[in-house]
Amino acid sequence: MTIVPFDDRDGWIWLDGQFVPWRDANLHVLSHALHYGAAVFEGERMYDGRIFALEAHTRRLFRSAELLDFAIPFTEDEINHASAETCAKNGLRNCYVRPIAWRGPEQLSVSALQTRTRVAIAVWEWPKYFDAAKFQRGVRLCWAKYRRPPAEAAPTAAKAAGLYMICTISKNDAERNGYDDALMLDCSGAIAETTGANIFFVRDGQLYTPEPTCFLDGITRQTVIGLARKMGIAVTETRIEPGMLSTFSECFIVGTAAEVTPVGEIGVLTFHPGRLTFDLVDAYADHVRAHVKDRRLVTA
Ligand code: PMP
Repeated sequence: MTIVPFDDRDGWIWLDGQFVPWRDANLHVLSHALHYGAAVFEGERMYDGRIFALEAHTRRLFRSAELLDFAIPFTEDEINHASAETCAKNGLRNCYVRPIAWRGPEQLSVSALQTRTRVAIAVWEWPKYFDAAKFQRGVRLCWAKYRRPPAEAAPTAAKAAGLYMICTISKNDAERNGYDDALMLDCSGAIAETTGANIFFVRDGQLYTPEPTCFLDGITRQTVIGLARKMGIAVTETRIEPGMLSTFSECFIVGTAAEVTPVGEIGVLTFHPGRLTFDLVDAYADHVRAHVKDRRLVTA
């Protein structure tokens, strides 16, 4: 597979309120964010011309910035509008959307009171997070080397760049060893999430998922819980210890990029993606495109 670096592409990036040619959307090497990790971002998907849960993602972006003690110099409405506009400007109707806000180069020290917040939105085509061939039998997870920090030790509710450092190390290890992703524990030893998605388990037709006490309460996670309950499936948010994993029959992960992806293995344990998992894969796929059907109904 040829990899086209992200700085060697064409298109338009929204930067601080205006569109700039893709290749000109640069920042200085002495930007505070690069040295001290002060950046927050979002990952969204546009399906058939509409960004799914756009307002919720934008709200989280602003909340993440607030948790990192900086303000985004735009309104949520302006960012919502700019996100949709960036897709249109690039001629895309099905794509991944990446807004990011970071501290600029005005001050390069731990203290950052003088920095200005910069904001960019880029969009690109990104079909599936995991290899489609693996989807039916489920992706393979190993155990991550690092645990999620507790909420007392980091702003864990923020989608903050710095918090991904341990995710990248764990995901790299996983891929190097032939796995698709790594499952992280929290500091008390309970199951938390993978490096970029939340996790669910199935036992006797019911769903179980860890309580998001020290990791993102993902928008996909909340959506899937809502869809499952509507389908009459009980969902329990609870502490799940690694020793309990053998009592579950199915497992899947959820996130904007991963959508609903079946899991086939966690370390030495195997899971068999079944009816309930695939029903939720379909329900989520329908839900994110529901507006298209609505429009068809209106025009029919
Ligand atoms: N956890 C992590 C670490 C993530 O990166 C993501 C993806 N943003 C999620 C969970 C799922 O969040 P969402 O469903 O809002 O995309």
